Amino acid sequence: MDNLINTSTLTDAERAKLESILNKIFENCTGAALLNALHSNNLKFDFKTNPNLNGLGSYSPIEKSITFKGINSMNFGTLQEELFHAYQDKYHQGGTAQYLGKPGSANIEFEAKLFGMINELYQSGMLASMITDADFNAWVYTVTNDGRTLPSSFSQFGLDYYKFIPAFKNAFPDYANTIASDLEPGAIFNVYNSSNYK
Ligand SMILES: [Zn+2]
Repeated sequence: MDNLINTSTLTDAERAKLESILNKIFENCTGAALLNALHSNNLKFDFKTNPNLNGLGSYSPIEKSITFKGINSMNFGTLQEELFHAYQDKYHQGGTAQYLGKPGSANIEFEAKLFGMINELYQSGMLASMITDADFNAWVYTVTNDGRTLPSSFSQFGLDYYKFIPAFKNAFPDYANTIASDLEPGAIFNVYNSSNYK
C-alpha cells in the first residue's frame, strides 16, 4: 500500500490507521479494482490531516493530496471516496480541477457517491442509500441486477442517470453546483471493467 503514498505528514497512529483501512478496501473486489486502477496509473498522493477541514475528508485535484479532518474521520467510506475522486481526476479529460465550484462539480460528487453505494450493494446485498428518493434507490437495484452485477457501460445507466442528480443535490446541499449535462460517469465503468470479478 506504500506505493500510493507520495509524501505523508501523518502521525504514526494516523498512518497505521490509513494502512489498515487500505487493507480493508483491498479485501473487497470493488475496492481492489480501484486500488489497482490507481496503481496501474502510477498515481501517488500526499496524505495529511487538517482539523479545520469541512467534512471528513477531501481530495485536492490541484495539490494531488488527500486530507482527513483527523484520525477519527479516517474510515472506509471516506477513504474509498477520496481515492475514487483521485481516480476521477486522472480519468476525466483535463482533470477535475476544472469543475471546482463550476458546472460539473455536482456530477463529480454524484459519481463518487454512486460508486460507494454500488460497491456496498454489491458487497453486502443491501443498499445503504444516502439519497431518500425511492425512484433513485429502485434504479440502483435495477442497474446492478439487485446487487449481483457491476455496471460496465453508460448504456446500462441511460439518461435516467442525469435525472437523479437533482435528488443527489437535495440530499447533499453542499454540492449544489450546476449540473453538466454531458459529463458521463465513465470513471465508474473504467474501474469496474478493470476488475476481475464481473
Ligand atoms: Zn466527495
